[in-house]
Amino acid sequence: MKEHIMQCVHVREDGYEEWLCPECGRLLLIHWPPRSDRQVKIEGDTTAVHTNRIAGMRIYVDSILPKAKARELLAPWKHFINNELEGFLVE
Ligand SMILES: [Zn+2]
Repeated sequence: MKEHIMQCVHVREDGYEEWLCPECGRLLLIHWPPRSDRQVKIEGDTTAVHTNRIAGMRIYVDSILPKAKARELLAPWKHFINNELEGFLVE
């Protein structure tokens, strides 16, 4: 499967991030939670998987997951943040 790496090229005053794919020109507007929104401005190559890496994690910026699946995938992170993160922090 083709993977295109998207880049955040601009953050608008209203908080929307503009994400551009340099390979096919796909353009998205993304607003992260709590105001989750995602708008496709230019379709580009719809057969490619569009990703990016944030803080070393591969983020599927252009995927829509059912909430139940997203919760399942995020469960280990949630556990880590709630129960183990404190032990990694220093004053
Ligand atoms: Zn692309």
